[in-house]
Amino acid sequence: MTNIDISTCHSLLTWMKEQVKKIVIITHSNPDGDALGSSLGLNSVLLNAGYSSAVVFPTDFPPLVPDLNKYSNWVIYERHEKAANQLIREADLLFFLDFNDLKRMGKPAKNLEKLSKKVVLIDHHPQPAIDTPFLFSDTKVSSTAELTYDFVIKMGWEEQLDATGAIALLTGIIADTASFSHNARRPELYSAVAALISKGADQHKIQEALFNTNSEDRLRLLGYALSEKMEVFPEYHAAIIVLTKEELKKYNFKTGDTEGFVNYPLSIKGIIFSSFFLENEEKIKISFRSKGGFAVNEFSAKHFSGGGHLNAAGGESRQPLGEAILKLKALLPEYAEILKKESLQEE
Ligand code: 5GP
Ligand code: MN
Repeated sequence: MTNIDISTCHSLLTWMKEQVKKIVIITHSNPDGDALGSSLGLNSVLLNAGYSSAVVFPTDFPPLVPDLNKYSNWVIYERHEKAANQLIREADLLFFLDFNDLKRMGKPAKNLEKLSKKVVLIDHHPQPAIDTPFLFSDTKVSSTAELTYDFVIKMGWEEQLDATGAIALLTGIIADTASFSHNARRPELYSAVAALISKGADQHKIQEALFNTNSEDRLRLLGYALSEKMEVFPEYHAAIIVLTKEELKKYNFKTGDTEGFVNYPLSIKGIIFSSFFLENEEKIKISFRSKGGFAVNEFSAKHFSGGGHLNAAGGESRQPLGEAILKLKALLPEYAEILKKESLQEE
């Protein structure tokens, strides 16, 4: 069971039937597989249900969803700002998917408060900071896509979920669980997956699109990052990878190329805390991952202006790269005890 409240669904549906024609779905910037899958999946269902629906992605993304060109009505805000703003302005209802705070949306958020639109939030991050009566937030699910599936069923749109929608939703689930390797203990998840496969989602095809579409440049960058740029601190059960602007340029970096790099150090026995620093033009983007009870969302919120989930979080730094790395290294001794305790739990 998820937190999707059936009576909230009923009042939303009644109101939608009476008042809503145009819908815009917006997700977070740098959309990942879950953001893409849940948004495109819901959009497909809404279109089949007769709504005039569109997705606004704040920034560009790699082609993670198989058969992406089957999906209609989506725009990338940073490329087509005017068209995206017009869609948002004309919408009767907005869906926010896969984020808990407007800050995660980036640029499209700037006019939203003035417009005072009705919003539905579907998300699995802790502490949702979006004020709406239509709040569907559940941290125990694997992904926003899983929660969106339950929402679709409870809204009575099972028939409107076709193979295209099912592929998108299953993509979100597989992406956010890294093929069912984390956040994937609940049996209900597998009921949802079974239903999506019955609808026509091919999980092998999704695995191919998500994990086997490397460019040669990306694979070489990964090799370089692991062999030359990974520092391991066994005494703190931690590891750090740093990539500079120059290194990215050398490997013809494209958006999404470093997705997942942060996970590799966790495959070293005894390592439960991994950090990845990516230098770009205006700031350093940092990813944190952990195993067990070490809360990287709290760590990131406290030290690197970020947040996210218990075991997967992001943050940023506007310091010079060297200083940001020193800051992280200096923090490790402070956390030595808890890291040791958590690593023993993981053995
Ligand atoms: P990633 O490391 O893949 O960018 O992000 C991991 C998780 O942390 C995602 O669930 C994402 O929503 C969250 N996250 C990433 N960057 C930020 C950030 O700057 N602020 C907050 N609050 N969450 C972030
Ligand atoms: Mn997600």
